[in-house]
Amino acid sequence: MTRREAIKAVALTAGAFTIAPSILRGENAGANASGSVYPFKLSELGYPFDALEPYIDAQTMQIHHDKHNGAYVENLNKALAQAPEAIQKMSLEELLLNLDKIPDNIRTAVRNNAGGDYNHSFFWKLLKKNEGGKPDGELAKAIDKTFGSFSAFQDKLSDSATKLFGSGWAWLVLSAGNLEITTTPNQDSPVSKPNQKQIPIVGIDVWEHAYYLKYQNRRPEYVKAFWNVINWDYAAERYTDALKTS
Ligand code: MN
Repeated sequence: MTRREAIKAVALTAGAFTIAPSILRGENAGANASGSVYPFKLSELGYPFDALEPYIDAQTMQIHHDKHNGAYVENLNKALAQAPEAIQKMSLEELLLNLDKIPDNIRTAVRNNAGGDYNHSFFWKLLKKNEGGKPDGELAKAIDKTFGSFSAFQDKLSDSATKLFGSGWAWLVLSAGNLEITTTPNQDSPVSKPNQKQIPIVGIDVWEHAYYLKYQNRRPEYVKAFWNVINWDYAAERYTDALKTS
């Protein structure tokens, strides 16, 4: 059975299943969201651990990628080991878009760990030292139009990231064709938001594991440094792709 047939079979046998169309396709989806299924594998970081020094230190990157992201993948696979085969055939994105269809006994584990893997697979691709760079092209225009200016956008996203209570993420998302700043608690992903799909364009991980070794409790310093490691080419690509499916 091909994956497409498997998905169709899920839809037919479960009746209530509504598999949303893939909203993020190909490379842009993040390694694990591009169609791979259970058992999931940890995506490659794609650059050396020290590539983001001095803004994000090598030890943080190594632990963050290998141990934290690694644990999300491992725990997702553990949860899915007990799941019906039809659920095991779902991609990360499909799992996150259909959390209400996941069996009760594994729903929380899938939400946390599929979300954790999806968010981090995106995050690794979003990071690249930019030497103070800014977006250009359509994304830059849309940011100016939505927020007034790049610096107003920076202030607003920084503020959301800094003030977010506890562990979570601050995001720039495309929602119904518009850019918006939003936050999610824990490892919830914007793609799972009920009623309105939100496609991540930029995301700041503000879990302490993302910054504590270098910045300790000084989250605002980490958020400020973060602007030096956003891969604006990748964000712009995401924006262009998201517009096509929004
Ligand atoms: Mn993290």
